[in-house]
Amino acid sequence: MAEPVRMPIESGCPDPVQYMHPTMRRNYGAWAYHDRPRPGVLHHTSKHNEEIWTVRCGTQRQMDVYTIKKLADIADEFGDGYIRFTIRSNVEFMVDKEEKVAPLIEALESAGFPVGGTGPTVSMISHTQGWLHCDIPGTDASGVVKALMDELYDEYKKEEMPNRVHMTTSCCQINCGGHGDIAINIQHTKPPKINHDLVANVCERPTVVARCPVAAIRPAMVNGKPTLEVDEKKCICCGACFPPCPPMQINDPEHSKIAIWIGGKHSNARSKPSFQKLVAAGLPNNPPRWPEVGAVVKKILAVYKGDARDWERVGEWVERIGWPAFFEKTGLPFTKFHVSDWKGTRHQLNSSAYIRF
Ligand code: SF4
Ligand code: SF4
Repeated sequence: MAEPVRMPIESGCPDPVQYMHPTMRRNYGAWAYHDRPRPGVLHHTSKHNEEIWTVRCGTQRQMDVYTIKKLADIADEFGDGYIRFTIRSNVEFMVDKEEKVAPLIEALESAGFPVGGTGPTVSMISHTQGWLHCDIPGTDASGVVKALMDELYDEYKKEEMPNRVHMTTSCCQINCGGHGDIAINIQHTKPPKINHDLVANVCERPTVVARCPVAAIRPAMVNGKPTLEVDEKKCICCGACFPPCPPMQINDPEHSKIAIWIGGKHSNARSKPSFQKLVAAGLPNNPPRWPEVGAVVKKILAVYKGDARDWERVGEWVERIGWPAFFEKTGLPFTKFHVSDWKGTRHQLNSSAYIRF
């Protein structure tokens, strides 16, 4: 008897077309123009004269099942039953009639989901997992997001920025790290402390040695046990050795800090994509509200809002006024940490995002 044919198991993202609003499916690739009747609402008109309204709201991103059900119920009751999540953790509801827009907004706002985040707003912060899901974070990215967006609530709802502001956070220094107009990233400032008793039991030492980007880790023997040692003069405190070897403990309540980087842009609209640059280092990692981080971010946003020309992204604005003017206007101190003096930068990362002279 012939063997049954084994079909491949499909994995990854399912085909999104099946989940699209029928108006979007019918008009795929045939949109004539779009406009924004108000902050948080997009209106698209197709070449076949069909229209669709998209209402965008902010969420806390790390959502429990009750919140997701609440959003789905709102989609069923006030929308057309269709919902989608954007890369910045906004949630969008699509409706095919203008008269459905106001009741949908009312339902979302009264359930605590602010409507906004379109055009020149501070849109939702895209962030990494933090303490909830990951095993290596030095801070809680989602906590920083909640604390910051509470303070930037009005900037999410009103289109008053010169251009869109995309913010990101990253709770370790090496992995999912954000790249944005303003990025809030963990910054380790001391080499890892090694728990020698555990290394031999927990870590595959060659893997850990190979992980270090500056070859600062060597095999060693301590108290007759095989372990590792770190050349602290070489170590750049990146934390890359910690994921494969948790006994290389780098997270520290005092020495793991937060740094702020600005001017990153993926888009090539009006100007080329750009790397972000470090503007504030050594801010305390201070849960649950991270007030020092919030103060710096709000200061940068306030100066950008008042000083940039229409349509300038944060990086384009700084390129126009110059970095000395940026530090003068924001009052942020320019320190030795803003100068890249690592000799590996040139040949390894010729596009280093640090400020160079
Ligand atoms: S940024 Fe780092 S710590 Fe945060 S979720 Fe990603 S890998 Fe984990
Ligand atoms: S923190 Fe980074 S640079 Fe330092 S030893 Fe670990 S991998 Fe190497």
